Amino acid sequence: MNPLFLDTPAEKWNLPSAEPWREKQIREWIFQRFASSFEEMSNLPAALRSDLAGRFRLSAVEPVKIQGSADTTRKILWRLGDGSFLESVLIPANPGRDGDRSGRLTLCVSSQVGCAYGCRFCASGLDGWRRNLTSAEIVGQVLGAAKIAGRRPDNLVFMGMGEPLANLPRLRVAMEVLTAAEGVGIGARHLTVSTSGLAPQIEELAKFPGQFRLALSLHAGTNETRDKIMPVNRKYPLEKLIPACEAFAKTKRKMITFEYILLKELNDDPSEAQAVVRHARRLHAKVNLIPYNTVEGLPYERPTESAIRRFQKVFQDAGIEATVRREKGHDIDAACGQLRLREEKRVPLPA
Ligand code: SAH
Ligand code: SF4
Repeated sequence: MNPLFLDTPAEKWNLPSAEPWREKQIREWIFQRFASSFEEMSNLPAALRSDLAGRFRLSAVEPVKIQGSADTTRKILWRLGDGSFLESVLIPANPGRDGDRSGRLTLCVSSQVGCAYGCRFCASGLDGWRRNLTSAEIVGQVLGAAKIAGRRPDNLVFMGMGEPLANLPRLRVAMEVLTAAEGVGIGARHLTVSTSGLAPQIEELAKFPGQFRLALSLHAGTNETRDKIMPVNRKYPLEKLIPACEAFAKTKRKMITFEYILLKELNDDPSEAQAVVRHARRLHAKVNLIPYNTVEGLPYERPTESAIRRFQKVFQDAGIEATVRREKGHDIDAACGQLRLREEKRVPLPA
């Protein structure tokens, strides 16, 4: 298989030395115009286009399935060079509103194939971990999705498949390309990295340049409950995790967001919310409550509406900002990992 163009040092592209502007033109096609083939680069001579196409692959990810429509959540299934599948989700701010394209566009990006952390409720970890994504595969999701959407996403959230902090070196390079003015050019403020709680890596991440955001997948206020649903908590229990987040918030001067999936009768007791309030106060964090998205084959359910409201009220009473995310794309399996699992098990997808 041909090497990836962007993974090859520019001096090996063999561009005509008498035309020094070609490199800039090509970068513009890739990062600003989201070209997925050399053929599209219409201001390059045909001979150069076919020469490059014969020697390089341009995209690290190839879209094989898109579910959803332009004004709703769209889930994109990608095939990678080694035949693995991967997914990203495009989320418009106002899905379903008649013809409203003015809203912001968020892309949910994956960082690994599978996940080693095995949170009980999550589809991504069901088949274990396969490999880290390369930086090109991370950036490729953004470029490929921009092509499909017809524009660059406004916000990126690393909340797809995998644990981004278990892939830090490649994440770092990808974040640099995504935020650089001569790269994709998305402001670091519009990037959110989500972690299940790898305490040492959170402190490492704080050293990355840029004012990006951190979301902590907390999902419980006590070690007792967290141990039941997130094996990572045995390694980095709350007494290690919360100080690491505190260090991050201090270094970056950024507020952290807690993600909190609501699982019926597991972590939806108001006493658990009280414990989260204490962590939120300490970190000045706000809380995102996410009613669980059911995963085929897993026994968990979302709580009733009244249980959700009771839980949220604990935060309101304590003066902590807590929103309930009415997740988009429930009907198209937008929870992490589900589309890929179906594909790999060859279960037919709904039309
Ligand atoms: N590994 C990282 C990032 C990917 S998971 C992390 O855990 O933070 C991104 C978010 O999706 C996490 O908060 C995760 O807990 C949540 N999630 C996983 N499965 C879900 C489901 N079935 N319904 C709703 N949210 C889910
Ligand atoms: Fe991995 Fe995040 Fe899923 Fe946990 S929630 S298994 S860390 S992807």
